[in-house]
Amino acid sequence: MVASLEPLIKGIEVNYRGIFQKNLAKRIGGDIVYVAHLGGKTGFSNGRYSDAPERNGIPCKYFAYVSSVSEEELEAICGAKMDISQADVSVVLDDAMVKGVEPWGWHGIRPINEKVREGGTLLVVSKKKPEELLKFVARQPFNYNIAILPGDSSFAGLWVYKDDLTDVRVLGAIAAIDPDIIHIQQVEEYVAKKYGANRVQAVRDAYNSLIIKEVTPQEGIDWPHQIPELPKWHEFKEGIAVPAVERRFSLGPRGQSRNLHFKRGTTKSLRPVVRFDLCVKCTLCWIECPDECFDPTPDGLYDVHYEYCTGCGKCAEVCPVKECIIMVDELRFDNDASPWKAYKENPVSYIKWAEEKKGQERIIHQVVTGRGLEVKTVENPIPPKVKE
Ligand code: SF4
Ligand code: SF4
Repeated sequence: MVASLEPLIKGIEVNYRGIFQKNLAKRIGGDIVYVAHLGGKTGFSNGRYSDAPERNGIPCKYFAYVSSVSEEELEAICGAKMDISQADVSVVLDDAMVKGVEPWGWHGIRPINEKVREGGTLLVVSKKKPEELLKFVARQPFNYNIAILPGDSSFAGLWVYKDDLTDVRVLGAIAAIDPDIIHIQQVEEYVAKKYGANRVQAVRDAYNSLIIKEVTPQEGIDWPHQIPELPKWHEFKEGIAVPAVERRFSLGPRGQSRNLHFKRGTTKSLRPVVRFDLCVKCTLCWIECPDECFDPTPDGLYDVHYEYCTGCGKCAEVCPVKECIIMVDELRFDNDASPWKAYKENPVSYIKWAEEKKGQERIIHQVVTGRGLEVKTVENPIPPKVKE
């Protein structure tokens, strides 16, 4: 009998960057439930069990269920869930996560729309068009929608909460997508009471500015990442031997070596682009990278392995040479190929490619400001120091 009530339950997930957006996502999950209560519905929200402990930037998730069934029935159907099984609306608070998400450990890089149900909606906070994002999203065998809420990824989290209106804007967007989850009038009533009447306009603007596109099975990409098959609890054997973790190299400059399975590439919103022709081989990026992403090369340079890079920006910060390492929007890249190999194959065309990717905008506080991203503009690229 309980299973027959499942179609009456709506699922919403909020994909966020660990730590930076935690408080933001938690607040959105809770607010969805409070607004649904105003509409006479029951609901609850929770964090995905496997996300604790979080690391900076790691893809994490809150989820919420709302329904017109009783609290007891909702509890019986959804109460013990450690992750959402299907989402009517899947919110993405940082658009770089459309390239795939790996929570932590060896879960494999998973499509961001993995949980979106047929006819459901992937709601992305982004300044990009749906078509630009779909270049990275897995193809699904059914129709669903992608909705864009215009805006920057909010890093209004960390351990404190800095309000930049993303939370109330997301509520307005969800109301526009599916009034059966939360209705715009109840969102406005709730926001006015909890956050103040001056926030209601932001709700209404988000409600009206949403860009929605239907996605067919012909759109998206064939998923390029292998999803690991983890053993079930009943498949573990007595006295099982767990093989030691494979390492990429025996010792780095600080005794580090890289765990081959622990790929954290989906953590990054920005990636370092290296002008190898400007490099003075000081070793600082290799020494300082907290995730051991740099590989020494035979010619004394340092290649970046993007599958392991978390986009923390440390290498760009420590590099002593102007414009040698610059952090660039992750969505400008469609693969994780070795930049050093591309440089060795054709130095001049690599530098041209790197400068095109860098563009003229430089992000100066990419971590946490609570005020969105700040950028400055550079006029001229530094000419290549190599010849064809
Ligand atoms: S941004 Fe640089 S320092 Fe940070 S993980 Fe990536 S390569 Fe390492
Ligand atoms: S920090 Fe900059 S200059 Fe030093 S080795 Fe790395 S890329 Fe080269």
